[in-house]
Amino acid sequence: MSNFSYQNQTLHAESVAITELVATYDSPLYIYSKAEIETNWYTFNDAFGDHPHLVCFAVKANSNLAVLNVLAKIGSGFDVVSRGELERVLAAGGKADRCVFSGVAKTIDEIERALEVGIRCFNVESSSELDRIEQVASRLNVQAPVSIRVNPDVDAKTHPYISTGLKENKFGVDIDDAVNLYQKANDSEHLNVQGLDCHIGSQITDVSPFLDALDKVLALVSQLQSKGIEIAHLDLGGGIGIKYDDEQTIDIATYVSSVLDKVGDLEIILEPGRAIVGNAGVFVTKVEFLKQNSEHSFAIIDGAMNDLLRPAFYNAYHKVLPVNENTKGIDANWDLVGPICETGDFLAKNRKLSLSEGDFLAFMSAGAYGFTMSSNYNSRPRVAEVMVSNNTHTLVRERETIQDLFNKEYIIND
Ligand SMILES: *Cc1c(COP(=O)(O)O)cnc(C)c1O
Repeated sequence: MSNFSYQNQTLHAESVAITELVATYDSPLYIYSKAEIETNWYTFNDAFGDHPHLVCFAVKANSNLAVLNVLAKIGSGFDVVSRGELERVLAAGGKADRCVFSGVAKTIDEIERALEVGIRCFNVESSSELDRIEQVASRLNVQAPVSIRVNPDVDAKTHPYISTGLKENKFGVDIDDAVNLYQKANDSEHLNVQGLDCHIGSQITDVSPFLDALDKVLALVSQLQSKGIEIAHLDLGGGIGIKYDDEQTIDIATYVSSVLDKVGDLEIILEPGRAIVGNAGVFVTKVEFLKQNSEHSFAIIDGAMNDLLRPAFYNAYHKVLPVNENTKGIDANWDLVGPICETGDFLAKNRKLSLSEGDFLAFMSAGAYGFTMSSNYNSRPRVAEVMVSNNTHTLVRERETIQDLFNKEYIIND
C-alpha cells in the first residue's frame, strides 16, 4: 500500500494528510487512492502483453461511481451481478460491451436490460437460467451471448464463506453436466456460445487451485471442440488474494504467465475485485472512549460493523495504524469495538496500540467489500467516501443524513 504512508509522522493518502481529510469530511470515512486503483488494474492488464484479454473489475468489491469511472477511463471491463451494478457502470462511463454479467439468479428485467444495452456476455449459472435467457432473447428477437459457469470442484483453501468452487456451493453448473448445457445453447438460435467461465472463491493466496481449475476447464474446452462447439474466451473469474497483514500472496505476473502457458490462443477474461481495490482504500475512525476492566481493554470507536462488516462476518483481519504515528497514550492490547448493540460488533481484537480518546485510527486494506457491504443497522447513516489523487481530494459519496434514513418510510393511517 505504497500510496498510504507516513509523512512527518502523519498517515497520508498519496500526498494528502488523513488529518486534513477527517477535518474536512468528518469521521468515520472511507478514503481511496486513485493511483493505487490504476496501478493495480495495470498490473493485471500489462501481464497479458499482446495476448487477447479483458480485465473485468468485479463491481461488488467497490461500486462507487468514482472508482468505476477511474477504471472505465483506463479501459477496464466490469463483472456485474445485478442490474444496479450494470447501471452504475453505465452511469460511470463504462462500456456495456466490456461487461460480463454473473450471479445465480438473474431476473427477467435484468436479462432484458443487459440485452438492450448490449453486454459482452452472460455467465450462466444453471439450466433454468439458460432457459430464461433464451426466452427473453427470443421475445426480443436477439441472440444472447453466453458462457456457462462451471464448478470445477477444487478447494480454494480460503474462508468457507468465500469459497465457491466446491460441489457443496450454490454457484455454477457441475462440470460433468456442462456438456449437455453447451449442446443446448449451441442448438438454440437465440443463444450464442461465447465462452466458458469459472470462479472458485475469494482471497486465494496460492496459485495452485487456480491452475487445477484451469486444467479441468481446458479439458472441457477440448471436449466441447470435439463436438463442434467453439469456445472463444475463457473467463477465469477473480479471487486473487491480497496482503492484509504479512501473508504471502499470489504474484499476478506469475499467475498470468502460468495461465498463458496453457491456453493457446483463447482470449482470457479475469474478474478481479479485491486485488484491484482492496489495498486502495482505508477506513478511518475516531476513538470515542477508552474503557478498561480487569480482563479487557476496549477502545470504543465511532466506526462499527455496519460500516465495515468483514471482521464481524468473516473474522477478517485489518491492520490498524494510528493516523498520528507518535502520539503517546495508554499502552495496551486493545479490542477496537463499535457503538452497535451486538457483541459481534468489533473491528479488531487484541491490538497493541498506544491510545487516547480523540485519536484517529486507520483500518488498512478496506477498499474492497468495505463500503459496499455497509448498512444502516442501528439507524446509522452510511459514511462518506473520499478519493485522493496526488495532492487533491474529492468527496465521492456524501455522508448520509438522518433524514435519508427514513425518507422512504410511511406510517399507516387507521
Ligand atoms: C466476487 C466475485 C468476483 C471477485 O472476487 P474477488 O475475490 O474480489 O477478486 C469475481 N467473479 C465472481 C463471479 C464473483 O462472484
